[in-house]
Amino acid sequence: MKDESVTEIFSHELPATAWDPAKKAIEDAKIQVAMIGFCGCWGCHLSFLDMDEAILGLLEKVTITRSSFTDLKRIPHHCTIGFIEGGIANDENIEVLEHYRENCDILISVGACAVWGGTPAMRNVVPLEECFREAYIDSPTAVPGAKKTIPYHSEIPKITNKVMPCHEVVKMDYFIPGCPPDGEAILKVLDDLVNGREVDLPSDINRYD
Ligand code: SF4
Repeated sequence: MKDESVTEIFSHELPATAWDPAKKAIEDAKIQVAMIGFCGCWGCHLSFLDMDEAILGLLEKVTITRSSFTDLKRIPHHCTIGFIEGGIANDENIEVLEHYRENCDILISVGACAVWGGTPAMRNVVPLEECFREAYIDSPTAVPGAKKTIPYHSEIPKITNKVMPCHEVVKMDYFIPGCPPDGEAILKVLDDLVNGREVDLPSDINRYD
């Protein structure tokens, strides 16, 4: 039972460390990029880091706002580019993706999961009820003797019947396939956008595995 005397404070509501105003002005003048991972494995985010030192050149022109790298939990202001990893598997994913669409000029589906559902979409061929049963009731890894129950709470995001690619929920502007895409491919797309060029992903760095 909920203890009413305890005030809940969520991490995204904690006061942020104050910025040095001079540094903030420099970052605010750059192109704003936000990132998010939905139903995926964060491998595409790791590909972003695979740009290695090339990322330093990019960071002269862009600043990363909401992302798992910066640990900012909300988009602080309108962004130019939103980098989306993962498919859409629950109602919270839908809500957050719509928030990104409203707050980013350009949205990019990065990786197989965002582009077409990827590995998580393997569950689409099995009815949701069967997936729950296998995961929580008949699971071979269940703790012996533990009560078998399918978790339900109003605050737990509701699982969608199917894992959807992002473009089935909102309009996506660019797609970088691969599982994960090559860091070079992500760099090429971001570099084209940041420098006002038409996006051109050469076949030697564009892959579908
Ligand atoms: Fe992970 Fe591959 Fe999905 Fe990227 S596309 S989130 S690497 S499973």
